[in-house]
Amino acid sequence: MLVERLGARTSLMNDTTRDCLRCKAPLEAGYLLDTGHDMLETGMRHQSRWVAGPPQPNFWTGLKLSDRVVRLVYADRCPRCGTLDLRAN
Ligand SMILES: [Zn+2]
Repeated sequence: MLVERLGARTSLMNDTTRDCLRCKAPLEAGYLLDTGHDMLETGMRHQSRWVAGPPQPNFWTGLKLSDRVVRLVYADRCPRCGTLDLRAN
């Protein structure tokens, strides 16, 4: 699994200046929350990720990610119509 860690660049890329494609209102920066569903049910909070390619089941981990590019997902929201604009940086 190749998780791209962008450090300070990530926070810059999360500041959106884009407008809604439907109603042209300025988007609010945000992301998709993923709460842990592991066997210990720790409830750890994570930012959702985008994975390149189709899902490949794995008996032990649920999905195989070994050779995949994985990126953090940002979800900018329109405060007027609620549309989400997803980006994977
Ligand atoms: Zn909108």
